[in-house]
Amino acid sequence: MTPLGREIAARIASAGPLPIDEFMRLCLSHPEHGYYRKQMPVGAAGDFITAPEISQVFGELIGLWAAEVWSTMGRPEAVHLVELGPGRGTLMADALRAISKVAPAFRTALYVHLVEINPALRQLQDKALRNTAPEWHDDFASFPDGPLIVIANEFFDALPVRQLVRNPGGWCERVVALDGEQFRFASGAPVSHAAEAAIGSIMEIAPAREALAHTIAQRLAAQRGAALLIDYGPLVSGLGDTLQAVRDHKKVDPLAEPGLADLTTHVDFAALAAIARTAGVQTHGPVPQGIFLQRLGIMARAATLMQKATPQQAAALGNAIGRLIEPEQMGTLFKVLALTDRLQPLPPGFDPSP
Ligand code: SAH
Repeated sequence: MTPLGREIAARIASAGPLPIDEFMRLCLSHPEHGYYRKQMPVGAAGDFITAPEISQVFGELIGLWAAEVWSTMGRPEAVHLVELGPGRGTLMADALRAISKVAPAFRTALYVHLVEINPALRQLQDKALRNTAPEWHDDFASFPDGPLIVIANEFFDALPVRQLVRNPGGWCERVVALDGEQFRFASGAPVSHAAEAAIGSIMEIAPAREALAHTIAQRLAAQRGAALLIDYGPLVSGLGDTLQAVRDHKKVDPLAEPGLADLTTHVDFAALAAIARTAGVQTHGPVPQGIFLQRLGIMARAATLMQKATPQQAAALGNAIGRLIEPEQMGTLFKVLALTDRLQPLPPGFDPSP
């Protein structure tokens, strides 16, 4: 067992099985052994590859999206550009480079804030963002006042979820129990929930994600601004167990190595959008990532880069763009949701609300 596994086993032995969200929270952010405190999640040498690591075009287009939003906000003189979970700092570096070229006045107006709990990643971000003087935060709660633009790529999927399982007698909390030296899934205490579903169905609910979406939306409503949330998940809410663990670019057993593997679930964008609206913002999308990037002009940007590329570089770029937009790759599974304050027009990449 991993050191965190032993700690969790001792807790279960003394206090009983752990709800899934508590298990996830310990695995991901335990102060000493949590996955996001210690491991190197992103990149070829990490456990998984993310969109900004696939091509510079991803961060560039998001930078231009932010520039357009700033412009339609009335070009405020000072604006916070906030990234939640910036990984290696690649997205922000690519975004700032594009912003400097295309929207220098926005570049002058913006202050970069990074929400990150991993000290090794903070160092990489510092390196990637030299000359930018970013300000780091442990969470989103303590931001200075003022208009803001928030970016989160593959951040919400790493916040814990609860799972409910439908038993013959009704819904129960799904928990992690201990069988000798092995963890296993089990049903815990009954939970009242009105949803109808077949016996054995699993439902995921995400209070931690909803609380964050609500906090961001309240800030946007009060101080103006927009947020762009990109993650994998369905267009409409549904049932099902989407908990998965990834280590070294392979799927592994979520219970086998607490603290050493990334644990995530799909993001229920419809639920987050509904919560955000109750806090007084407009929501746009979710739209599939492939469509969003094409609307932002990914093909034109790729064509420009191709002009200066060697045949080998051109092939690699074509391959990377395919990974970002093709339906069978990241183009359909990944979705993009925007939150904007009520004065903002429709942001680039989204459809007018029906
Ligand atoms: N956005 C990056 C990285 C995604 S991985 C990319 O697209 O490449 C998730 C990121 O969120 C990592 O930087 C991780 O360290 C950070 N993170 C995870 N949980 C966090 C938490 N609870 N608070 C702050 N940062 C967190």
